[in-house]
Amino acid sequence: MILLRHPVCGTLRGARSLSTRASAILSSLDIPVGAAELPGVYDGQWSGSGEVLESVCPATGEVLARVRSATPDELHEALGKSKEAYLHLRTVPAPKRGELLRQIREALSEKRDVLGALVTLEMGKIKTEGIGEVQEFVDICDYAVGLSRMMNGRVVASERPGHTILEVPNPIGVVGVLTAFNFPVAVYGWNFALSVAAGNANVWKPSPSTPLCSIAITKIIARVLEKNGLPGAVSTLITGGKDVGEAIVESRDIPLVSFTGSEAVGRVVGKAVQSRFGKSILELGGNNASIIMPDADMQLAVPAVFFGAIGTAGQRCTSTRRLYLHRAIAPKFLDALQKLYATINVGDPLVDGTLLGPLHTRAAVGIYSDAVQRLRQSGAEILTGGKTYDHAALSQGNFVQPTISVPKTADPADKIWSTETFAPILNVDLFDELEQAIEWNNAVPQGLSSSLWTRDIRNLGKWIGPEGSDAGIVNVNVGTSGAEIGAAFGGNKSTGWGRESGGDAWKQYVRWSACTVNFSDAAPLAQGVDFST
Ligand code: NAD
Repeated sequence: MILLRHPVCGTLRGARSLSTRASAILSSLDIPVGAAELPGVYDGQWSGSGEVLESVCPATGEVLARVRSATPDELHEALGKSKEAYLHLRTVPAPKRGELLRQIREALSEKRDVLGALVTLEMGKIKTEGIGEVQEFVDICDYAVGLSRMMNGRVVASERPGHTILEVPNPIGVVGVLTAFNFPVAVYGWNFALSVAAGNANVWKPSPSTPLCSIAITKIIARVLEKNGLPGAVSTLITGGKDVGEAIVESRDIPLVSFTGSEAVGRVVGKAVQSRFGKSILELGGNNASIIMPDADMQLAVPAVFFGAIGTAGQRCTSTRRLYLHRAIAPKFLDALQKLYATINVGDPLVDGTLLGPLHTRAAVGIYSDAVQRLRQSGAEILTGGKTYDHAALSQGNFVQPTISVPKTADPADKIWSTETFAPILNVDLFDELEQAIEWNNAVPQGLSSSLWTRDIRNLGKWIGPEGSDAGIVNVNVGTSGAEIGAAFGGNKSTGWGRESGGDAWKQYVRWSACTVNFSDAAPLAQGVDFST
């Protein structure tokens, strides 16, 4: 039984003025509250006279703002300005670009909590997660400040006397960043910070349902750029839907497209960028499993699965969607997990203590309900959840009950196991040997995050080695969800093979040249080739 602890406050859809909770957040971020429409394009100047996007609060249904996207002409002009901004930024020394990022870091940090509240208001994740997302942007700026003095090439030994070979990184150009609704701030941060350190200008197309987060972030960055006498189009914003996304993907002025979103759209984007020989970074859907061995520490594993499955209402790319329990501990584990599910606070994600907010859209509620219906029809046992909330205080929002199900089929190729349903549904199966669980873990198309709970070092060795998990994130005694920025983040297989954030991810945001330099008085050919007359 899910307990309702917090009533949801706010104004209902169709109301004329904004609720005080929304007005307070927007005005703290310099977003006009009473305006009929907001401009959704920035390239040094704010504009926008194209399609209207509505920002709707997922908890209350309140329309927060109407935002005007770009017309084709405005889009074309913004891309032109971005190119000019790149030509300028590439001449600024890298450590100076690092200093710019340090100032942006400070400006974001100053507004961290209210930006986090805006993420909560517009996207629907709970406040601590909203703030955590902004903190990720701050963290990656810190990382990129250091990186700006360490984006090193290499000196390579030449086989020819009096020659040396250098591998040199240079800025790549304008980077297109297309982002998903569920991380409306951090994903741009991961790309922007590395890309600016590398000397590139950026064009950001956010999800059409989170325009306010992108406007607030762009305003903060724009102020710092202006203070430093740099063109605003270093961080161009073009809000919009599919058409704007397609125009960016097809633009030959954008050598690198970093796309975060669903596998279905990623497949189209990847092909389109490849067809013009552009570079892409694809960060697509996940279908992540946790495996619990009999020697796992239950005190740690149960809450980790709880957070992994319910955090962000199951709308993280790294959310735990599959749970494989060793038969010996399955009853005890499920009992403890269901007890936690029964205590969850559901309600207004802006209220401290709420752990479950709404799904982002009404459409997502439909996707959740369809998935639960499919489970029921196929004979799955629904241990908890499986419904929307009928409590009056939640009726204007997109609230659904977190669900644990035991499907009848164990076939990993079945749609129940093989597709990512972006909602808090956790499917459970039992295994006897670790090898079986690893096989199931790897049998799905996606390969983002995975997690093994054990204290046995032999299991650990198998899990992280060649016979282990084939995902991009392979955790041990850590849940599937919640990565730090220091390591490269991303997934394999149909998750797209992209890497962002830490590790060697920065190397994708530069163009590499091999430069052979002859400082001798002879000009020998490589491999001893003799071409003398
Ligand atoms: P989505 O694919 O619907 O949209 C992503 C972006 O693509 C949006 O900005 C959208 O407007 C744009 N778009 C849509 N059609 C386009 C087209 N034809 N050409 C170019 N752009 C187009 O995804 P979503 O629903 O916003 O986000 C949820 C998905 O994102 C989930 O699958 C989730 O797993 C994934 N995701 C992955 C990661 C990761 O790092 N792997 C991180 C966050 C989210």
